[in-house]
Amino acid sequence: MGTCPRPPELAHAGRSAWPPFTGGGRLSGSPEAGRRLEFIYRRLFDHFGPRGWWPGDSPFEVMAGAILTQNTAWRNVEKAVANLSAAGLLSAEAMSAASHEALAQAIRPSGYFNVKARRLKALAELILANGRGGARPELLDWPQERLRPALLGVSGVGPETADCIVLYAAGQPSFVVDAYTRRILARHGLARGDESYQDLRAWFMCHLEPESRLYNEYHALIVAVGHQKCGPRRPRCPSCPLSDDPLLDKALLEI
Ligand code: SF4
Repeated sequence: MGTCPRPPELAHAGRSAWPPFTGGGRLSGSPEAGRRLEFIYRRLFDHFGPRGWWPGDSPFEVMAGAILTQNTAWRNVEKAVANLSAAGLLSAEAMSAASHEALAQAIRPSGYFNVKARRLKALAELILANGRGGARPELLDWPQERLRPALLGVSGVGPETADCIVLYAAGQPSFVVDAYTRRILARHGLARGDESYQDLRAWFMCHLEPESRLYNEYHALIVAVGHQKCGPRRPRCPSCPLSDDPLLDKALLEI
């Protein structure tokens, strides 16, 4: 993994049906990495199609979902969100006013419900201390240079959760890195796999133009291939849309 110059030949829009892929970057580094990122994106998009992320009826629901999805499967988040909705707790105002017990009970299906109830309340308090709550809290209009550090100041909100909120709730281009991202980059020779979250995020963001639609789709596509194909022990490379990447670790095709 190097740093990143803009590969000028990649500064073009994709097909009209695709969110624009605009390779390139604002820092210095490897044009080849930009081409590889475009290859991965196009292969995944052709195979999986648009992912329509993030599922949620409002930006606040996306914010809550970003906390609820920590360490659990999405189907459990859906149950917790349905409970929150039924209990009238899908707003910062309602969460702040609710008892810890009521909130924890509603989100029980998501696991770690006492911890997550505290995190949701802390997030609600941040929202209410900084303007309007409601379906689209006012702080989502802050620039990400202000929003992201504020989110990271909430207990239990790490960089992945904060970037999910910045990207999918606020609609601002902050690339989300997860375990799938790290594993796929390593298996395709683009990373060692032990880089810091911040280094991986910066690497994507200096190769990709800052476009929230592109970041939205790219992360969702990585989750799709990670979930369906790229397991930690037995990757299903022969049936994966990335199997013809010339730099794929060929030993994985034999597993
Ligand atoms: S399953 Fe194989 S080809 Fe697909 S992303 Fe993982 S390592 Fe790459």
